[in-house]
Amino acid sequence: MSYIYYLKPSSFCFGVKRSIEELQKVIEKHSNDTIYCIHALVHNPKVTTYFIDRGVKFVETIQEVPSKDAVVVFSAHGISRNIFNEATTLFKAVYSLECPFVSKIYNEIRYFIEQGIKKFVYIGKQGHQEAENVIHDIQFQGAEVCSILDVSEIPHIPFSGPFAILSQTTLNFDLVQHLIKQIQQQFSAAITPKILDICKATYERQGVIQKFTSNFETLVVIGGKESSNTKELYKIGEKLGKKVFFGEGLSDLLENKEFMHQNFSNVAVTGGASTPIEDILEVIDWYEKKGYIAKTLEFQG
Ligand code: SF4
Repeated sequence: MSYIYYLKPSSFCFGVKRSIEELQKVIEKHSNDTIYCIHALVHNPKVTTYFIDRGVKFVETIQEVPSKDAVVVFSAHGISRNIFNEATTLFKAVYSLECPFVSKIYNEIRYFIEQGIKKFVYIGKQGHQEAENVIHDIQFQGAEVCSILDVSEIPHIPFSGPFAILSQTTLNFDLVQHLIKQIQQQFSAAITPKILDICKATYERQGVIQKFTSNFETLVVIGGKESSNTKELYKIGEKLGKKVFFGEGLSDLLENKEFMHQNFSNVAVTGGASTPIEDILEVIDWYEKKGYIAKTLEFQG
């Protein structure tokens, strides 16, 4: 018997669903205006294409928006508050479609600065939209920020007094916990928010792979190649010693000869928080047609 395990939760998270719904409302409200989305709304090419087909234009900065008559929306990854405020003075209408889990980090920045903490260690991936905006926001307020992503960087933290540790929402949960512990062992004045910044969707999608790891030897990860949380699922699979296939959808996977000719008995499939459900179900369907029996493995808490 061969099994294809559908790992749950996977596919759209609360924040992605919310951003998509909000952008749809903006399109309805501003049906006669040109809407510019700053950065991909979420990191999935299918979602981007869906909105391009509905007239939304995607650019990377507000400077690329050519007209003050435009409507501007900021993506689920969040936006530095000074850039948002500047946009409100430049364009006809401006919306932030930021995920509330990202908003939590901006609230923490404000809270710590009000408490007199003007130094931050930020655990995040340089170049990622969420990370770049958080770093920019901290610096714009005159605070210092040191960005790290690896334990080897901890000795280079330049702060001696109190500082706050924040992190990107979609990183590896275990890595962030480990880094925070290591930092606090070496810097007694390091403080953290009460609740870790890794979002629930990221935690659960990683948790289901780890919890049911003994059930499968192969992991298929579906999602956008720019998606941070999807890439973390891939890395967790590799770390657990699985054979991991990564594709944006079935057609992508079918270009991989190794995927096509596999004969593994126990395969699990998952998708990132920005992966449309149909892309995951299509892969499960493909396995079922090859004779695999589909089962669901669900992570609860
Ligand atoms: S992955 Fe997390 S931070 Fe990103 S949109 Fe989903 S809930 Fe929000």
